[in-house]
Amino acid sequence: MKIEFIGGVRQVTGSCYYLEINSKRLLIECGMTHNNDDKLAINFDFSEIDFILLSHAHIDHSGLIPYLIKKGFKGKIHCTHATAELLMIMLKDSAYLQKKDAEWLTKKEQRAGRDVIIEPLYSIDDVSKVSNYLYPVSYNTIITLTEDIKTRFIDAGHILGSASIELWCREGNLEKKIVFSGDIGKKNNPLVKDPQNVDSADVVLIESTYGNRLHRNKQESIDELVDVINNTIKNNGNVLIPSFAIGRTQDLIFVLHKLSLQGRLIKHRIFIDSPLAKEATLIYSRHKECLDEEAIIFFENLKRHTLNITFTESPEESQKINEITSGAIIIAGSGMCEGGRIRHHFKHNIWRKQCSIVFVGFQATGTLGRRIIDGAKNLKILGEEIAVRSSVHTIGGFSAHADRDELLDWLKVIKNRGNPLKVCVVHGEEETSLKFCNFIKDGLKIDATVPKQHEVISF
Ligand SMILES: [Zn+2]
Ligand SMILES: [Zn+2]
Repeated sequence: MKIEFIGGVRQVTGSCYYLEINSKRLLIECGMTHNNDDKLAINFDFSEIDFILLSHAHIDHSGLIPYLIKKGFKGKIHCTHATAELLMIMLKDSAYLQKKDAEWLTKKEQRAGRDVIIEPLYSIDDVSKVSNYLYPVSYNTIITLTEDIKTRFIDAGHILGSASIELWCREGNLEKKIVFSGDIGKKNNPLVKDPQNVDSADVVLIESTYGNRLHRNKQESIDELVDVINNTIKNNGNVLIPSFAIGRTQDLIFVLHKLSLQGRLIKHRIFIDSPLAKEATLIYSRHKECLDEEAIIFFENLKRHTLNITFTESPEESQKINEITSGAIIIAGSGMCEGGRIRHHFKHNIWRKQCSIVFVGFQATGTLGRRIIDGAKNLKILGEEIAVRSSVHTIGGFSAHADRDELLDWLKVIKNRGNPLKVCVVHGEEETSLKFCNFIKDGLKIDATVPKQHEVISF
């Protein structure tokens, strides 16, 4: 048995791990990187891959699936039912963005006198084929992939449908249990259930997005958000919140709605400026099996339009928000500000000192979001130099990821079963993963490593 770390090591995005078990070939995740330098460096034919196991729908875990199919993948893709639905809208959105980017780049080449046509990695047509390969599974059910490989998806509490993946593998007399954590959520997340624990494993791949940080207390984060919103609106400004369309946006509208009900926010209007977020919210409302009680009632009310939230779809509706100079809370993608409508809202608001930008999610190195957090005074947005004069806030308590201690607790449960355990730290920026690895080795006395890209571990 062996694992090769194709991507998503020493960086957060681009998750992809290759497993070879008894001559069967599996990929866990098939994600895109945030800087679009994706080639999926696998040195054999994609048609030889038997299975893809997908922990959740986020594009950094799933974004290359249509590309793989286009290049010959013929196997089965397993994920939860909710992930299967979210995946399709996520990939369609990705294909649409790639098409726009490719058209823009092609024009740029042609204007420079070069006859070059830039092709997207895949088209909407390619995406529509993905559903033929999807074999959704229910949580907590053992699925037989082959005589020698069984798998089970358990709730990871990160976004709707998210899972940790357990794999029982046999090769001759050798039996091993491999566990992939997926993205692990926080306990008491507003909508989805708490992450489930895994009770045993021989090899664990664990995420480490916040492996070197402790989140601030949730209540403090909510109080800070209330202060930022109320102060901004009092100063006649708008609040901009860049957010992933799937997961974070639904968490945020739930929290904002609750604050409105409690009368803690002064007069405001909430805009969710993302067609993708609207579709995702509908999918959330349909998958009651993944939601807690309070969330089910919330989505019923949202369906009946009894909440003070406007979902904007068309570009015209989106542009209309630009006319609003105060009192608006605008939630838009992309989460790390690398694309999407948030950039238009930045252009119209970020130069005004009355406005605020609130980051509630992780911003990877090299992204526009990170540059703003790091204090950039000027930014090039949509081809224009824009001054950053609005206030910038990072509120960590809304993260959809477990923090260091929660990740260590998750590992402790497995360790307590007493098996010799090998832990591979993945899905984190290099420095964070290395520090988290030391916490595992020193604190839990577990054999741990941070693999390099293309490193192979055999067992
Ligand atoms: Zn995720
Ligand atoms: Zn992730």
